Amino acid sequence: MSLSKQQIADALKSVHTSQGDLVSVGVLQATAVCEANASVKLRMPEATPTRELDRVAGDSRAAVERAARAVGIGMDSFIVEFIDVPGEVIHTVRFGKFTGGTGRAETPSLAPSAVRPESAGDGHRPIGGLGPSPARPPASNQPTPQGAARSLPGVKHVIAVGAGKGGVGKSTVALNLAVGLARRGHAVGLMDGDIYGPSLPTMLNLHPLDTAVLAGRLQPFLVHGIKAMTIGKLVDPEKPLIWRGPMAHGAFKQLAEQTNWGELDYLIIDLPPGTGDVPLTMAQLMQLTGAVVVCTPQKVAQDDAVRATKMFQQLGIHVLGVVENMSYFVGNDGVEYDIFGRGGAETMAQRLNVPFLGHIPITMALRANSDSGDPTANFTGTFTGSDRLSRSLEELVTNLESQVALASFAQGQTRPSLTIS
Ligand code: ADP
Repeated sequence: MSLSKQQIADALKSVHTSQGDLVSVGVLQATAVCEANASVKLRMPEATPTRELDRVAGDSRAAVERAARAVGIGMDSFIVEFIDVPGEVIHTVRFGKFTGGTGRAETPSLAPSAVRPESAGDGHRPIGGLGPSPARPPASNQPTPQGAARSLPGVKHVIAVGAGKGGVGKSTVALNLAVGLARRGHAVGLMDGDIYGPSLPTMLNLHPLDTAVLAGRLQPFLVHGIKAMTIGKLVDPEKPLIWRGPMAHGAFKQLAEQTNWGELDYLIIDLPPGTGDVPLTMAQLMQLTGAVVVCTPQKVAQDDAVRATKMFQQLGIHVLGVVENMSYFVGNDGVEYDIFGRGGAETMAQRLNVPFLGHIPITMALRANSDSGDPTANFTGTFTGSDRLSRSLEELVTNLESQVALASFAQGQTRPSLTIS
């Protein structure tokens, strides 16, 4: 059990700035809850001193802890992100575990850790590691392929999207995550790493576009607010792609390293289904923030998704969470039908102790928008079930952002520092 977004917003009504409470004066911009992890985005007036930001973060945490205690539940983490007008994070304060017993706190809360992505001066001093995130598998001394990988220049977060089997909607999820993140102002690239069966030429309607090479580097296609590259535009689209191990390795490496991605906040990689050579190549080649596993609710799909999750963990790749696609169907009568048994993937995620990122309903328009190469319509269109589809996609993006923030923190991608006041 976790606090709902509404409970968190209600709690933040008790936190005040000189203008009024955080909710009434519009400081609270967004709330994300993923299992026992929550984060809020706050927009304070420009040039608010860091000391005041830290005070607001501390009061917010205290309010959320009171709300959690009141209902007897605990939280693994609570993150307060302060954003500027364009939405860039300018200051982050992360709080660790707190318990939700109805009396005294059962264990002491961790001290806050403040992170300033752009500057680390004025009263903030680095402290040591924070320990692994809750979803990370137990630390092992065994070297993993990911352990020796280098970061991809200019790219803040590389996120792989994988699935145990084909046809569960892995490419659909990768594409919609990419477009959803871009709609929030992030710079996003999408790489079709499914070199055996590339989907992006159709899903992004790249067919009329020509591939361009500049100074020996592939130019990504600029479509729907993202940069995209696919092997499907480099080979005959109707020819079967039969790659032997080293060829698959080379093709994947070329797409990743020889595409002119530029500066990116997120590079989303759509992997081939299953547990073959390509994820290993990827893990050796580049440092990832983590992987997302896509699964449909049925038991047979879950079995494959468990294998995919464990593969990522063995490669040393952090699992950011599981997405349940084709969770239910909304009929023309507006009724939701649980064709495949909604909730199966969520239960699987709980069993594996990895976060659950959300459900996507089966929606005829989603399929049609994929076939016509118009993913933006999934967020903006009006069609049967459009409200539920756009809401679930937005929730997915929010939960992914939260998990990325948690993972980056645990991996030391954002510099932790202790506020001295
Ligand atoms: P994968 O990458 O796992 O092979 P795809 O993303 O290519 O799967 O999806 C397979 C097919 O199912 C595509 O035609 C896609 O449009 C469709 N599809 C995927 N998810 C949904 C959904 N939630 N509702 C309707 N159609 C979907």
